[in-house]
Amino acid sequence: MKITGLMVNYYCLCQRKLWLCFHKINMENESELVNIGKVIDESTYEDEKHNFFIEDLANIDYLKNNTVYEIKKSDKMLESAIMQVKYYLYLLKERGLKNIKGKINVPLSKKSIDVFLDDEGIQEIEKCLAEIEKILNYKLPPQTLESKICKSCAYYELCFI
Ligand code: SF4
Repeated sequence: MKITGLMVNYYCLCQRKLWLCFHKINMENESELVNIGKVIDESTYEDEKHNFFIEDLANIDYLKNNTVYEIKKSDKMLESAIMQVKYYLYLLKERGLKNIKGKINVPLSKKSIDVFLDDEGIQEIEKCLAEIEKILNYKLPPQTLESKICKSCAYYELCFI
């Protein structure tokens, strides 16, 4: 099974969201917050941006000085962004690239977080990939999360209304 960086991000956020998205129940276009994210993504770091793809598994915002950069609109869900970037580093390592590190930039809050992939991180990613595969094979979506992140999720209406 092909597991993308976005799937790793969703797994960390909400297993139900991961399942819905993978099963092509897509509401992202209707979410104003997602659209705001796209505007930030398109308008920041214009000089540096050269999206960098790892096959069809990852769409990296840009790569510069041996560093993979991911730009986020908010610092509220950084744990999932960190796992996403660790997965990018994992994919690059698998393809023989060494000494690559990661950085998450949050332009609105002027934050910058360094991300590294050590042995523990590799184990964490491999466990996450096995779990994702298991969840995606469920016949029905996992239960709702009922977390504060639901209010800003594109699937809110589907899950709660
Ligand atoms: S609304 Fe909540 S439960 Fe539903 S997919 Fe989004 S985060 Fe998950």
